[in-house]
Amino acid sequence: MTAARYDSIVVGGGPAGSAAAETMARAGLKVLLLEKKRMPRIKACAGGVPRKAAEFLGLDLSSLSGPPIRGLTISWRGEDPRTVAGEEIQGWVVKREEFDRVLLERAREAGAEILEGCRLTGLTDRGDEVRAITSRGEFPAGTLIGADGALSPVARSLGRGRRRSYGFAIEARIGVPARTLEERSGRLSFDLGAAPGGYGWVFPLADAFSVGVGTRRSGYRKLIGCLQAYLEREGLPRAEPGRIRGSPLACGSGLSGLQRGRCCLAGDAAGLVDPLTGEGIYAALLSGRLAGETVADYLAGRAPLGAYRGRIRRELGNNLLSARLIARLTDLSPRRAYALAAGSDRRVRAAMAVVQGELSYLDLLKRKIRPRS
Ligand SMILES: Cc1cc2nc3c(=O)[nH]c(=O)nc-3n(C[C@H](O)[C@H](O)[C@H](O)COP(=O)(O)OP(=O)(O)OC[C@H]3O[C@@H](n4cnc5c(N)ncnc54)[C@H](O)[C@@H]3O)c2cc1C
Repeated sequence: MTAARYDSIVVGGGPAGSAAAETMARAGLKVLLLEKKRMPRIKACAGGVPRKAAEFLGLDLSSLSGPPIRGLTISWRGEDPRTVAGEEIQGWVVKREEFDRVLLERAREAGAEILEGCRLTGLTDRGDEVRAITSRGEFPAGTLIGADGALSPVARSLGRGRRRSYGFAIEARIGVPARTLEERSGRLSFDLGAAPGGYGWVFPLADAFSVGVGTRRSGYRKLIGCLQAYLEREGLPRAEPGRIRGSPLACGSGLSGLQRGRCCLAGDAAGLVDPLTGEGIYAALLSGRLAGETVADYLAGRAPLGAYRGRIRRELGNNLLSARLIARLTDLSPRRAYALAAGSDRRVRAAMAVVQGELSYLDLLKRKIRPRS
């Protein structure tokens, strides 16, 4: 099957792809989004959406989530816990299959054509045309945005895959009695050191917990053991092995190669996950929108497509570089890093402000936070 030419093709129907497609469709472009799965699809994710992401979307997430998150508890391997809570909403915990379906519908409503069950298998970028080669035929376009996740076939086609060194996270939904759910309602739990080079989490969904562990260490093989040990420490039931799912954490690849020829990368495909928090939804949304805006500018002759690289560096890159630096320091002495981060309510609140984009990691470093005496 050979199709009419599109202004832009987006590969991937997660937050990055939907944001890119919606942005370009609103700018009046003829857009095709290809998603290999059919929605709603399962995505390994804790579903923590910070307030800044909901504000960015202009979306009320109450209907997709349990009670909003207003506080958190952090601990070091189950010990030395500190709880910080307040009135202000910090975010929501959503089921990704529902959240992503809503975002994809927004892109569709904006005018993007969505093709589900369509897998990209290759691409060519020659002359004035890029062609997406898929399980359902070839599609020509003026530009292409790879928003196809951490294992991004588009990134590999652009020669970016070889240098990537990602961490990994696994997650399971744990059903618990209503009383247990109520006890942790509106509060996230993080256990630093639950996995080497990472942490564990318990996030309350409306009807279950998302519990998981993640590590920045690429190739670490013992995450399932870490997860079961963490569940036991938290007094929660073991996860059934068949219900544990995982995915790479796209946090180690540097910021080179975000654009080549007529193609850009967004979200996990671009390696934009925060290496300290494992958070990637906001960066996926923002980079998807920036990629879409840059493509619209490029096709209108207002800017080169390479302008995308500078936009990402300005909006996300510098903070990610600081996060990588702090992650390296943390890995040298994780217990001490915990003492620094959790030493007072003020420090924990400063970390929460970083997640909301109110402070940068550089601001944290500049504050010269000292260990507890
Ligand atoms: C266990 C775990 C927990 C996490 N928890 C959080 C959290 O609480 N909060 C947070 O902010 N971030 C979290 N993250 C990170 C977050 O999930 C990602 O950063 C986010 O999903 C990135 O969105 P995306 O749109 O770039 O990619 P994705 O959401 O991965 O979407 C990519 C899409 O591309 C499609 N695709 C792939 N290949 C092809 C192909 N060949 N052809 C067509 N389509 C294709 C996929 O099916 C998928 O739908 C977590 C990650 C993991 C692994």
